[in-house]
Amino acid sequence: MALSSTTNLTPAMKQYVEIKEKYPDCILLYRMGDFYELFFEDAVKVAPVLEITLTSRNKGKKDSVPLCGFPHHAAAAYITRLIENGYKVAVCDQVEDPRKAKGIVKREVVRIITPGLILDEENLRAGENNYLACLHEKNNLLGLAFLDVSPGEFQIAEYDGQEELLAAMAALECKELVMAEGPSGNAMIKRLTVQWPALLINRRPENYFSPEQARAVLEQKFPAADLAGIYEHPAVMAAAGAVLRYVEETQKIYPAHINEIRWHAADNYLVVDETARRNLELFATIQDNSRAGSLFAMINETLTPMGARMLRWWLGYPLADTKKITARLAAVADIKENHLSRSNLRKFLSRIYDLERLAGRVALGVANPRDLNALKLSLIAVPDLKSLLMELSAPSLLAIARALDEMPEVAGLIAAAIAEDPPPGILEGGFIRSGYDEELDSLKSISHDAKKWIASLEAGEREKTGINSLKIGFNSVFGYYIEVTKANAALVPDSYVRKQTLVNAERYINQELKEFEQTVLSAEEKIRAREQELFLALRAEIGRYISGIQKNSRLVAELDSLTALAEVAEKNNYSCPAINDDDTIMIKDGRHPVVELAAKKEGFVPNDTLLNMAADKLLIITGPNMAGKSTYIRQVALIVLMAQMGGFVPAAQAQIGIVDRIFTRIGASDNLARGQSTFMVEMIEMADILRKATPRSLIILDEVGRGTSTFDGLSIAWAVAEYIHDFQGRGVRTLFATHYHQLTDLIATNSGVKNYNIAVKEWGERIIFLRKIMEGGTSRSYGIEVARIAGVPQDVVKRAKEILRNLEKGEFDEIGMPRIARGLNARKNNNPQLNLFVEEEDEVISELRNIDITSMTPLDALNLLSELKKKL
Ligand code: ADP
Repeated sequence: MALSSTTNLTPAMKQYVEIKEKYPDCILLYRMGDFYELFFEDAVKVAPVLEITLTSRNKGKKDSVPLCGFPHHAAAAYITRLIENGYKVAVCDQVEDPRKAKGIVKREVVRIITPGLILDEENLRAGENNYLACLHEKNNLLGLAFLDVSPGEFQIAEYDGQEELLAAMAALECKELVMAEGPSGNAMIKRLTVQWPALLINRRPENYFSPEQARAVLEQKFPAADLAGIYEHPAVMAAAGAVLRYVEETQKIYPAHINEIRWHAADNYLVVDETARRNLELFATIQDNSRAGSLFAMINETLTPMGARMLRWWLGYPLADTKKITARLAAVADIKENHLSRSNLRKFLSRIYDLERLAGRVALGVANPRDLNALKLSLIAVPDLKSLLMELSAPSLLAIARALDEMPEVAGLIAAAIAEDPPPGILEGGFIRSGYDEELDSLKSISHDAKKWIASLEAGEREKTGINSLKIGFNSVFGYYIEVTKANAALVPDSYVRKQTLVNAERYINQELKEFEQTVLSAEEKIRAREQELFLALRAEIGRYISGIQKNSRLVAELDSLTALAEVAEKNNYSCPAINDDDTIMIKDGRHPVVELAAKKEGFVPNDTLLNMAADKLLIITGPNMAGKSTYIRQVALIVLMAQMGGFVPAAQAQIGIVDRIFTRIGASDNLARGQSTFMVEMIEMADILRKATPRSLIILDEVGRGTSTFDGLSIAWAVAEYIHDFQGRGVRTLFATHYHQLTDLIATNSGVKNYNIAVKEWGERIIFLRKIMEGGTSRSYGIEVARIAGVPQDVVKRAKEILRNLEKGEFDEIGMPRIARGLNARKNNNPQLNLFVEEEDEVISELRNIDITSMTPLDALNLLSELKKKL
């Protein structure tokens, strides 16, 4: 039913409709007494999501309205469920005391909760950011602004292509996006929704993104120094202005703790693109996308939520600056070596709550007494951290120590005002310490003394009436009463007024008790009001210290991350890598940090690595399936990554010449579904990698060429390897794992190629995996043996061996090249991607096409053949 078509509504429903019309894209939670009610389409839409019954107001009548609802005290859980299902929620509360209201109670939307703007602890993953982003296009540039409102982190970036933008957005895992209305954004939105079906996208009119308005807003909120570079980037400015406007629109308050604006990735980072992140399982496993089993889960020994967020950032954006990495490593080493300091640091770190989000909650006016208490407890640990750090020697640790601000006044203010174990809400009171406020104390003493007073009244009345069983009690509906059993009813004096009749007793009130009730109840109401007043004043006072709290939070986060890296290093027996600007990567006894832990029982076999831009540029790693090729090449990438994030590495020794980008490509056939040929996909991906690769990059290729037939696949793998080796005359450092042992022939013609194989031992017809990497190629793939181990039926294994023998006889020519691979190139010659690799062959083929055999002598033919062969 359309809202506007509803006539004859009750006043409450009229008010509902009026409010709902202002928030058409939100689910409106409409407070009625102790319930939040949902009506009309909202109710119909979400009742199944919330698993609550859909009924109707005025059931069966003409003007019946669909309705569902839930008690207000359970709101948090229902709101979470709505947000998780991609809804925006507008919370509409009663904003005046119903008892004092004339006519209908005034209601207002007090807050809008959206997937990108969540403030409750229970709805946020503690160690992760929750980003709201805004995207705007101007002059073919894409401006991105994103913020995590809870800790108040605000960043901006600009991209000149969709791919870079999408990669950045994938890394941020944005939950919600604001974009301009209009057809120009439609194509982008289509891409975004394909990639992230759960992303909530809000469209706003173009004027929402006006750069002039943005400029005004930004200048009002941020220091000039932060804004210096932004004016030349109108797309970025528009996005930044709009995202702030959206926050203000939904939160109804401008969050004072968002007081800093940073360019995203302005520092020199090691770029790990989205595919590499996934393939290396940095934050989630490939198999089931679970967080457990990822590298981050393994190294996350942080003790504070902001520490976890920072460590996550470090892993997602490792450094590419030798000096900075070395400084981090020195701090990690210092903490690792000083066992006692480390365990003490960890003890105090574990007492610190999410300072960043607490500061945010104070700024947004939603911090409750428990939050302030958590803030106090956190700040109390700061002086201890400071003095522990002073005992250490790494310069960056001493810098943290100096910068940490003890803020005794903040902890003092809270300690004086807030009771030890306060309730979370501020409405019920009971959280202000006695002795903090005289007025409150005297109000409290009235209510405290009530017990004594009642006892004496009770004794007096018993004596007066002679009824020994007379009792004075209280219940929330009838208030105070004097209870007399029915048997004694005759003794009740006339001054008692009957209030309630029970089965065996009567309840009364008299003048004296009535007056007392007035005083007590009004005292209690005054206590609540006074406590609230005091609390709000305290919160406002604490608000003045927000930037100091935020600074402390960042320092604690950094210390926590460094300590976590030290802890991981100690636990897993890692060593400190040497970082330099050479092009050599040398690893002795390297291990895969995650597989190593899983393989504890059998033991993980460590392996060495040497890569450089000379003779060890392209390592071809062969070995049968299951030998450990993927594990090996990933371990090299992970060791580089861990070293550059400033951590120790799973190796006996490592020397890392800084890498600027890590790329990975895993041969797979999943793109086939999209209708592109495997060859096309792999070539496009390779071209894309090499467009961005530099002589400082590292490429990890795993089974490229797999998802197709043997010869196609082998040809692809071969072409790719050659292409990388000679790319722009210098090539890129690459580890190439393949089960095409024919690739080892590349060494004959390419000076930067080294062959390695993962050793297996033959035992009769069986093989044993030794997991040891050795120089040289393998000649056999042992695929059939692997099939046998995997439990493929005997008959199949036998037949496979037969087929293999047949194939081996005719598969390759005398120089070890696959005969059909060349044919493939010729066949696909009209494919533009192929031109990247096969120009000479194209020429030969076209010459062949043009030959008129009938007019040639046998000698001519032989000469031509020899010429053509030379051209190859
Ligand atoms: P491939 O890529 O050659 O098919 P994988 O790298 O997937 O092989 O390795 C197969 C399994 O072997 C892994 O799941 C892992 O458990 C084990 N493995 C790999 N390398 C090692 C090693 N160095 N030491 C111990 N076990 C290993």
